[in-house]
Amino acid sequence: MSTDNDKAIEEGSEGESEAASNSQTPSTMESLSRYLLDALSLAEDTTQILEEVSFEGVAKYITSGKCQNIITMVGAGISTSAGIPDFRSPGTGLYDNLQQYNLPHPQAIFMIDFFKENPKPFFVLAKELYPGSFKPTPCHYFIKMLNDKGLLLRHYTQNIDTLERVSGLPEDKIVEAHGTFHTSHCMECGKVYSLSWMKEKIFADEIPHCEEADCGGVIKPDIVFFGESLPQRFAECASLDFKKCDLLIILGTSLVVQPFASLAHRVSASTPRLYINLEKCDSSDMLMAMLFGGGFTFDAENNTRDVFKKAMCDEGCYELAQLLGWGDELQSLVKKEHERIDQLKTASMSGDGSLSDSSVVATRQRDVQQGTGASVSTTETHQGTEKSVDSNASPRQTETVIKES
Ligand SMILES: [Zn+2]
Repeated sequence: MSTDNDKAIEEGSEGESEAASNSQTPSTMESLSRYLLDALSLAEDTTQILEEVSFEGVAKYITSGKCQNIITMVGAGISTSAGIPDFRSPGTGLYDNLQQYNLPHPQAIFMIDFFKENPKPFFVLAKELYPGSFKPTPCHYFIKMLNDKGLLLRHYTQNIDTLERVSGLPEDKIVEAHGTFHTSHCMECGKVYSLSWMKEKIFADEIPHCEEADCGGVIKPDIVFFGESLPQRFAECASLDFKKCDLLIILGTSLVVQPFASLAHRVSASTPRLYINLEKCDSSDMLMAMLFGGGFTFDAENNTRDVFKKAMCDEGCYELAQLLGWGDELQSLVKKEHERIDQLKTASMSGDGSLSDSSVVATRQRDVQQGTGASVSTTETHQGTEKSVDSNASPRQTETVIKES
């Protein structure tokens, strides 16, 4: 789609192998100590910014004019009301359909080594969960509203469902930390394939192969598998954004996947953090909390900034919108956009009755000003074995990632 994007992808794949071979280089230690110093100096200023440390207090702060740079961090919980299950978690029922493929364990579907040997189970699951068959949720539109009102600095998502793009959030405002289905590439030659091309293969129950002469490599959507590098844009944006952040809003994630979860600790020690989720994260990143003083302090006596709102994401966003005086606006935006998507789907219903829903995003992309995106300089890795401390940006750095479950 965009050449910037394609370039980033190509550079990303180069970075992967280099990062993998350099995981123990001195630069990792160097960056860790730099991060430690950063974290310690930030920890000094704990001035209370919120008039009142509460959900209402956060709303007041947003309307005060002092809060110009909001960062949102989200996970699967913001897409569940769209009908997309948290399919990285076992027990959703999705994995049961894959018994016939003899997976060694459910997460193997998202392990790059397993995929290289046997991509079939992934594509079976991809068909079932194909992005584009779903509509963005009120929560997605709330985030878009933050942007429309000039308050959103950046949106960090762990989701690969592309619903942020469908909602109309500009590409340059989105960091897809775990990649996206939006583009795919050949694992052999790197050739980039579009969402619509990939969709055709997935729905034909084919394992997609490269069409370049003499290649024939398997085509993989650009989502980050365990064992693969995070997009370089992740580290690049994070290192610039979080020091500017006036308010961090965390939605629908239990904050267990690293390095994503550690982003919450990269804001300054005084920056208010609103966490909307059904369950409080156990704030068990104890190592992180001890080292960097960044643990959540929802229930602490000296809490000056952390607010937990126990709610479904949509419900929490509607409530916040109400407090901000945007309640009706959000409701009508959701209604209008859902109708628009329905109309587009009807209009593009193809002969065989399947939906050509990539047109939803394609139409959107024309409306959206193409962002330049950040230039690339670092690489982070998503792995499935052990959780590690987030060592902050250094060129060609590697990070280890886990989904705890
Ligand atoms: Zn190829």
